Amino acid sequence: PAKGEVVLEAKGITRRFGGLVANRDISFTVRAGEILAVIGPNGAGKSTLFNQLSCVDHPTSGEIRFLGERIDGRTARAMAGAGLSRSFQHVKLLPSMSVLENVAIGAHLRGSKGVAAAALRLDRAEEARLLAEARRQLVRVGLGQYLHAEAGSLALGQQRLLEIARALCADPCLLLLDEPAAGLRFLEKQALAELLVRLRSEGMAILLVEHDMDFVMGLVDRVYVMEFGERIAEGPPETIQTNPAVLEAYLGG
Ligand code: ADP
Ligand code: MG
Repeated sequence: PAKGEVVLEAKGITRRFGGLVANRDISFTVRAGEILAVIGPNGAGKSTLFNQLSCVDHPTSGEIRFLGERIDGRTARAMAGAGLSRSFQHVKLLPSMSVLENVAIGAHLRGSKGVAAAALRLDRAEEARLLAEARRQLVRVGLGQYLHAEAGSLALGQQRLLEIARALCADPCLLLLDEPAAGLRFLEKQALAELLVRLRSEGMAILLVEHDMDFVMGLVDRVYVMEFGERIAEGPPETIQTNPAVLEAYLGG
């Protein structure tokens, strides 16, 4: 998609868990070449929303469109192949394997059952292709000098970049990141922010769910603020930072 084109559209998403409404009537768009942050205090419903957008979970009602097509009801695996990639923080690093192997396996694993099963199905041509792609994406995120280092030796900030390299292997036009800055040190956050800015300038649409307000405010184009499952504010960072409802949600709780 060309810059400015709508990549992802959420229309009136509601997600209930029994009597609990975790998301109520959530609507927004994300365009190519734009970073949208969804923020809110703990329990606001951010992860619930994130899971639906990446098709790990599905709305009780409402629509999700990716490149104009309904995707609610599809599988996460199908979406990864179609250009919607999420960071997989729960796909654990294989600490004694190399950074390069971790990304290649992660790219292959995406959505499938397990490492062993994935490894067994690889033929040599496919393996070579995955390794070349993994190398390309690691260079892209700035880990080119660590290809053959043990993944377990990387600092947390570098591991986060590794996860993004994995997500990029599927050649996505939309990147979904769940709390990418969590636990990172100042310089690591800076490196991450620089990468996201670069991806945005290449036309990537990026949606991140984030708890860290400072990280978000210096980086993103628009902010969507949730509390108790609902939208309480939306707009550019400058207006969000001084929005009374937002300050109340963050400081009042
Ligand atoms: P956040 O990521 O903003 O901290 P969550 O989306 O994790 O918020 O949770 C929002 C609300 O939905 C919470 O009250 C949480 O307990 C509830 N919730 C989330 N997932 C489930 C689930 N699978 N079953 C029942 N309740 C859930
Ligand atoms: Mg969460």
